[in-house]
Amino acid sequence: MLNISITIMITKTLSQFLSSKEWTDYLTVLSKTINFNLYVCGDNEELFFTKENPFCKLIESAKIDSVRCPDSCKKIMAESLQTEEISVFKCDAGIINFAFSIERFGEKVYIGGREGFASYEDLHKYLKLVKANNLSPVPSAIALHFTGEDHAKTIAQYVFLTINRLLLNYDERYRLEEKFFRVMSLFDSDTFKTLSRNPELLHRYILDTVEFIFGNTSATLMVFNSDSLTYNNSYSIGKLKDALAELRLNAGNPFIQEMYHTKSYISSVNAEKLIPETSFKEVANFYFFPIFFGDTIGKIIGIFDRLLSKEDLKIMSAFRDYLQLHSENQNLRFSAKKFKEADERLAYFADFSNSIISVLNKEKLFNVLIEKSLQLLNAEKASLMLLDKETSELVVEAQKSPDEAVQERMRLKKEESIAGIVLDRGEPLLVNDIEKDPRVKRENRPRYKTKSFITILIRIDDRVTGVLNVSDKIKGDAFTEEDLKLLQSFVNNAAIAIERSLLYRQSEELKQLSITDPLTGIYNRRYLNTRLTEEITRYNRYKHPFSFMMLDLDKFKEYNDTFGHITGDRLIKALAIIMEKSLRNVDIAARFGGDEFVAIFPQTAKPDAIHITNRLKEKIDKALQQELLEMPLTVSMGLATYPDDASSVGELLEKTDQALYLAKRGGGNKVVYL
Ligand code: GH3
Ligand code: MG
Repeated sequence: MLNISITIMITKTLSQFLSSKEWTDYLTVLSKTINFNLYVCGDNEELFFTKENPFCKLIESAKIDSVRCPDSCKKIMAESLQTEEISVFKCDAGIINFAFSIERFGEKVYIGGREGFASYEDLHKYLKLVKANNLSPVPSAIALHFTGEDHAKTIAQYVFLTINRLLLNYDERYRLEEKFFRVMSLFDSDTFKTLSRNPELLHRYILDTVEFIFGNTSATLMVFNSDSLTYNNSYSIGKLKDALAELRLNAGNPFIQEMYHTKSYISSVNAEKLIPETSFKEVANFYFFPIFFGDTIGKIIGIFDRLLSKEDLKIMSAFRDYLQLHSENQNLRFSAKKFKEADERLAYFADFSNSIISVLNKEKLFNVLIEKSLQLLNAEKASLMLLDKETSELVVEAQKSPDEAVQERMRLKKEESIAGIVLDRGEPLLVNDIEKDPRVKRENRPRYKTKSFITILIRIDDRVTGVLNVSDKIKGDAFTEEDLKLLQSFVNNAAIAIERSLLYRQSEELKQLSITDPLTGIYNRRYLNTRLTEEITRYNRYKHPFSFMMLDLDKFKEYNDTFGHITGDRLIKALAIIMEKSLRNVDIAARFGGDEFVAIFPQTAKPDAIHITNRLKEKIDKALQQELLEMPLTVSMGLATYPDDASSVGELLEKTDQALYLAKRGGGNKVVYL
């Protein structure tokens, strides 16, 4: 499965396994015990032999026609192996041999043994051959002993049985791995994403997996509670299910402290120390596998009353790593999403303030304000007045009325006008009937259709500077408290917009914090740098390599020049979408700038990264071909892996750029990796 490159390095082929040091050491000892040279052959190649046979060596080096050494030997061996039984034979030079094959999971390996001669006659024949061909004499230091065919067969059987017996371990290991990979393929990142929304289900799924790997097992999944600072059972299975459901450990518990210290699993035979005076007394042993979230152990998988082999532990550790990395990715995605939302709010403010800034003319700005206020309240008459402090007069800066032509800038004495009353009171005013309201009580003027109106304050920079009056609801009814609130909040917002310089400065600051590219909406270079640093930290913790890819459009300038910048922009946007769609869930795509894009492939060693990059290129090529028949466009890509190719963020960028440069220099439209 591509999106997990957790390195469970247990997987070896049978031939790798039999030529490992553990095995060759064993075969060497076995060879000395039985007094036979032993060798292991894969398909046509010798993988290991204990020591050179001096009789063979002498004949083989002489290249004697009648013996055809070593081909004849190989031929006899191949023929005798067809039978699937142990075969014992003498080669053309009379040396006694045995051979048999071992097959596991479709892979066949041959084991052979040879030493000296079956009888004195055979030795005699050999010596005659040596003499006849004028070979140097057989070294006298060789200890001679004869092994008849029957005895050779017994020895061969012994070797066959011991090797097969020891290989049972390998079978077990292989089966476990098979199982593990099958589990992992169920546990892909999409499943994980879905499950993460439902912790209970996720915990059950995790323990089901443990059960699937090991069979019937008592296990718990404990979760850290940051209020009580305890690890509490969230889900449990097996014989101890009920006892485990009660499990509640303090964060200060020595077992947990030890995991904080070693960052690895622990095992203990002191289960009774977890909860004294309970059924845990009967429990022989337990293992805890910590799942870290950053520096905190967020969850613990506990396995009870079961001895785990070295392979079991490797598999559980790999499973734990896998869960850990996925949870971390999930968290990163979550915080990135929050950042993105903040970006969207920023975009709204920037837009708002920009539109206000573009209304440079004060008169126009006030007219926009009046226009919007009337729309908001469904009214037809409004005026905006600002206070002239020097003369204590209110100046009508803008007004709108359906039946009146635009008037001169009217000036009103503050004390005489309703606006003046509102300014002095420092509170907005909602009047139902101008003729009855004691605060304003006066005769309604004929130019007003209704006796109801609203006057609110306009504050800029916390200073009251004017009022906005709205009157004459279109339907003739009176204004309500709701209208007053609505208008006040709109005007307050508008006032904020008017304080544009302040807002503008703020939005510039916020832009600095932005992690998305405004054109494409995908991550920008700033986030990329943060993320690369994080990936390196993660590497230091788990030692999973990650890869980094840079992509640059070929001859994009020409495309821009031919079709214009807007079309160019559209293409850049399309490319961002293709990248996001084509990459895996865990990968991070970002716009590096201009026509350059990058991607991080977390926990991905080079072979997988090459595969992903080639696949991405195929998808891009296909999409570009479909979209742009007018002018063929291609991309060049460079790829590097941390820590294989670089030891810092800077060096990784540099190396990837070099790979990209090589791709360009080679004519473009290709992937180059270091
Ligand atoms: P090369 O094959 O060597 O990559 O050459 P190139 O023509 O693609 O040029 P290069 O990568 O050196 O420069 C990138 C060009 O992409 C410059 C500019 O014309 C165009 N470009 C960069 N950013 C944008 C953008 O945001 N929108 C548009 N429409 N074009 C851009
Ligand atoms: Mg380019």
